Amino acid sequence: MRRLRRIKILATLGPASADSAVIRRLFEAGADVFRINMSHTPHDKLREMVATIRNVEGSYGRPIGILVDLQGPKLRLGTFAEGGIMLKNGEAFIVDADAAPGDKSRVQLPHPEILAALRPGHALLIDDGKIRLIVEEHTPGRVVTRVAVGGKVSDRKGVSLPDTDLPMSAMTPKDRADLDAALECGIDWVALSFVQRPEDVIETKKLVRGRASVMAKIEKPQAIERLAEILDAADALMVARGDLGVEMPAERVPGLQKQMTRMARRAGKPIVIATQMLESMIQSPVPTRAEVSDVATAVFEGADAIMLSAESAAGKFPVEAVSTMNRIAEEVERDPTYRTVIRAQRPDPEPTGADAIAEAARTIAETLDLSTIICWTSSGSTALRVARERPKPPVVAITPNSATGRKLSLVWGVHCVVAEDAHDQDDMVNRACRMAFSDGFAKAGQRVIIVAGVPLGTPGATNMVRIAYVGAEDVGP
Ligand code: PEP
Repeated sequence: MRRLRRIKILATLGPASADSAVIRRLFEAGADVFRINMSHTPHDKLREMVATIRNVEGSYGRPIGILVDLQGPKLRLGTFAEGGIMLKNGEAFIVDADAAPGDKSRVQLPHPEILAALRPGHALLIDDGKIRLIVEEHTPGRVVTRVAVGGKVSDRKGVSLPDTDLPMSAMTPKDRADLDAALECGIDWVALSFVQRPEDVIETKKLVRGRASVMAKIEKPQAIERLAEILDAADALMVARGDLGVEMPAERVPGLQKQMTRMARRAGKPIVIATQMLESMIQSPVPTRAEVSDVATAVFEGADAIMLSAESAAGKFPVEAVSTMNRIAEEVERDPTYRTVIRAQRPDPEPTGADAIAEAARTIAETLDLSTIICWTSSGSTALRVARERPKPPVVAITPNSATGRKLSLVWGVHCVVAEDAHDQDDMVNRACRMAFSDGFAKAGQRVIIVAGVPLGTPGATNMVRIAYVGAEDVGP
């Protein structure tokens, strides 16, 4: 099964898409990677979803990526005696450590270390930023706030603190247990929520020990300040526009999305654009014009993947949401302006053998109008560097490691094939040509370019390019 677009689609699973028939239809409609959100998924359900995805993968013979999204330190208020209250602009309101049910004058924030970190002038945003309180006075165990934007506040509403450095790691005890369960199931990507500093990513990588790749979700102003270091520590970024647009003015998000996409493309690390891409499709079978435009922007920016959240997890039209994304991406990539925009943002190669070869392969393939760039890759690094070039011809990655194939399913333009390792260079060329033909990337008489590290199976040693004809012998009887 071959996709006719370069950008990948990430679909979140949930009640609307948990059963195997829907997962199969989501894959057929275009989902390349499935996201399992641990905020809403118990471990038995996680194991069941992973088994179902692996089943679909087996029946299509195509690697499918699985991303497990850890909840992270999501802060919530305590409860109210009456279930909720109305806060009016200008009123004083106390937030403290007392577990007694709240009332019109106060409520608990059950995180004493956070109360200690709040300072006068810091904002507390409640319920996705609908309510805004500003700290006026700080005493041990409590803060007195002024209501800047009022409204209804009810039990256990989420709290965001855009101005406060949270004195906590991005991994909570729940996240550690979820991570263990996910790694036991053999998932491919772990997404870390509310990352503030590179150390958050480094700590997670120590726990993961190479068993999955780690994606940093960028959703806090503190992470924006240390973006370069976080990108350096992580294997990929997600522009988590939901929380980012609460913690920062929403109008800053589009610019930040562009900056992050360019930084990640320069680093050759995958970048995912997430949240509210086709939000109206939770309820409606067709998207709004603005949503189509938002998806198109991510495609034009050359992001690696676009993500569906509630649209595929809990909406009424999960399959339609995936096929709509697929259609938009295909159309944008066919647009005559697409290649010009993608080319204008191409980063220069770094001074390494791998980048020199990746750039050369792209130039040769585009100059000679070759049908495909084929990479033999064991760790995936050759394919990542070739994808960084955003070449015009499709990229086929052949790997002996199913984990590499699944990881690369998130990467721009890469069609993965898991196959036995080649035993010599002739075998490598012959099998590359046969696969390019059988997967529909080259016809008999067309030429392909092959990129590899020789001797084969040496990760990171990209040192060879070869042009080869797809001949009658590759096409079979
Ligand atoms: C987001 O905030 O945009 C996001 C992807 O995170 P989550 O859906 O896990 O809250």
